[in-house]
Amino acid sequence: MPDIRKLGEQGIIDLFKVSRAQPPITKSIGDDCAAIRLPGGKLLLWTTDMLIEGIHFERRFGTPKQLGAKSLAVNLSDIAAMGGRPIACLLALSLPHDLEQNWISEFRDGFTSLAERHGCPLIGGDTCGGREEIAISVTVLGEVPEDQVLWRSGAHDGDDIWVSGIPGTSALGLRILADGGDIISDEARIAVNKHLDPEPRLEPAEDLAESGQVTACIDTSDGIAVDLGHLCGESHLGALLEESLLPLPAIPPGREDDPLELALQGGEDYELLFTAAPAARVIFEKVRDLHRIGKMDESSNGVFMQRSDGGRERITPRGFSHF
Ligand code: ADP
Ligand code: MG
Repeated sequence: MPDIRKLGEQGIIDLFKVSRAQPPITKSIGDDCAAIRLPGGKLLLWTTDMLIEGIHFERRFGTPKQLGAKSLAVNLSDIAAMGGRPIACLLALSLPHDLEQNWISEFRDGFTSLAERHGCPLIGGDTCGGREEIAISVTVLGEVPEDQVLWRSGAHDGDDIWVSGIPGTSALGLRILADGGDIISDEARIAVNKHLDPEPRLEPAEDLAESGQVTACIDTSDGIAVDLGHLCGESHLGALLEESLLPLPAIPPGREDDPLELALQGGEDYELLFTAAPAARVIFEKVRDLHRIGKMDESSNGVFMQRSDGGRERITPRGFSHF
């Protein structure tokens, strides 16, 4: 019997798509959050994400405060991806017995200060003692007016594809941390900071939702190749990126990372990747930090890129894989 590596993450998730969701459940497996209809024209958004030591983080790379904030931020990012606003969160922890008390109070400070900043109080959770690795599981509840929700599935043929921020920056930061590189240059500091302290794009996402112009949205947790692939899958369309439009991370002097590879494959940026009709360009071109990077294309099956040299190539996801 082959092991689960053959299935991969998506194959495993698909095994769980067994129960049929019925109203008031509006969305089950397949988007950034599950959604349940509330009275009064709102949807309750519900999302959970884990961070496991040695897989999602190394204790030596950042401070406990940064890790506390990041474990909430990655979940808030899924609320942002739906155009929603957080309501409250739950925190489950598995902690090794010899963990210092200071570590946990600093982790708490990081977690609760981000929670307070976004009006997302910690209202419950679970705590247990574990073996050597720290395991963190966060659940966030949020809400969004039903007529403003941003699904992954609403893109149309010919829609522009937009991304906030510079994709690949977090992955560059992780590489610098992992090879013990210098964090002296501005480029290195920006990248490392992006990796350790991602800011969930809640306010910009609410603005996008209120604009009524966004047809589909996802947050970039696994890299553009993977996440745009999910948006394409849910919207039943392909995508054509334009190399000349793609913003690239600035590589610190003396390093030789490939910025294009980072931008396409690097994960953990927690930015917004969304689509909108070309008529909306006049609106989004004025917004700081938004970049138009390509268009949805019904004639492509998957994610492709128009190279600056004229060629067209399929972008195969090569991001991080758990299996
Ligand atoms: P995200 O990167 O936005 O957190 P994921 O790629 O982790 O999303 O998950 C994709 C979809 O699969 C989401 O709708 C998520 O809720 C669902 N999912 C992931 N793991 C499981 C599981 N073990 N059981 C049921 N649904 C799952
Ligand atoms: Mg997501």
